[in-house]
Amino acid sequence: MDIKKPVSRRSFLKQSALAVGSVSILSRILDNDLAFAQVLTPIEETNATAQALGYKHDANQVDVVKFSKRASEQGKKQLCSNCMFFSQGGQKVAGKDGEYGKCTLFPTGLVANNGWCNSWAIKPGMSL
Ligand code: SF4
Repeated sequence: MDIKKPVSRRSFLKQSALAVGSVSILSRILDNDLAFAQVLTPIEETNATAQALGYKHDANQVDVVKFSKRASEQGKKQLCSNCMFFSQGGQKVAGKDGEYGKCTLFPTGLVANNGWCNSWAIKPGMSL
């Protein structure tokens, strides 16, 4: 015989709060897992945005006639790794030389630590 006890309002609210909290935590875990599961690869230098911004994985290959911002001695110190839009650098990519990280301007791929584009802006707290 299955006799069910009446559930008090307090107990119901407590269990509901726990359930909501569990769903929230589970959602965060899944979000993080998906973020890690999403393997990004280096962007193509031929993509339209990269070309418009003169992006090169090797900053020494930048066309400094077209993008004179990097022509000076000071400009040559500009790299993705010291740009304010760069994060999570130092990532190795199978089959590629160098290290990569994320750039907020190129959310679908990675940029090189030693890369550069014309949107470069110094990372806060750094000096060249
Ligand atoms: Fe590199 Fe900065 Fe240009 Fe992004 S915005 S590609 S981090 S120089």
